[in-house]
Amino acid sequence: DFDREIKVVVLGNGGVGKTSMIRRFCKGIFTDEYKKTIGVDFLEKAQFVDALQEEVRFMLWDTAGQEEFDAITRTYYRGAGAAVIAFSTTDLDSFKAVLSWREKINAECGDIAMCLVQNKVDLIDRAVVTPEEVEALARQLGLKLYRTCVKENINVTEVFGYLAELHHKK
Ligand code: GDP
Repeated sequence: DFDREIKVVVLGNGGVGKTSMIRRFCKGIFTDEYKKTIGVDFLEKAQFVDALQEEVRFMLWDTAGQEEFDAITRTYYRGAGAAVIAFSTTDLDSFKAVLSWREKINAECGDIAMCLVQNKVDLIDRAVVTPEEVEALARQLGLKLYRTCVKENINVTEVFGYLAELHHKK
């Protein structure tokens, strides 16, 4: 069943936790010292989605450190059914870049399922944005906001479950 398979692209500036999120969701692990491979890579994970009452096969694509807009090739976006736009609690540039990531996804993929992810909420003491600023941006973009801590596995499964559900409704 084609509906049960979804390619998800995970986007955002370098260092926000994209590779960590994909590895956390697909492999259940978190490591600080993980060395990235060069070039686009993906991992797969079958996960039961409560909202759909069925198992969905997620194919998660990582930019593998090539976050420069033009370095990400068409292949990366091709066939994507959903996108995570991630920024870090401690990186203002990554927050400011959210709008351009959203525009890039729309240009490459059209109106696919998306959500906004604020990662590294364990570092809230060092936050460079207020909760209100983040909520205002999510509202302005019409995106559901998830606050995650990939390190402690908070809200990661929920992000992908939501995207599968939204994709299914579109
Ligand atoms: P990417 O460049 O967006 O793929 O980011 P990485 O996955 O390589 O993560 C960048 C750094 O942030 C790494 O040192 C990760 O271990 C760290 N990191 C990722 N998620 C979290 C988190 O939730 N909390 C904290 N404290 N660090 C994180």
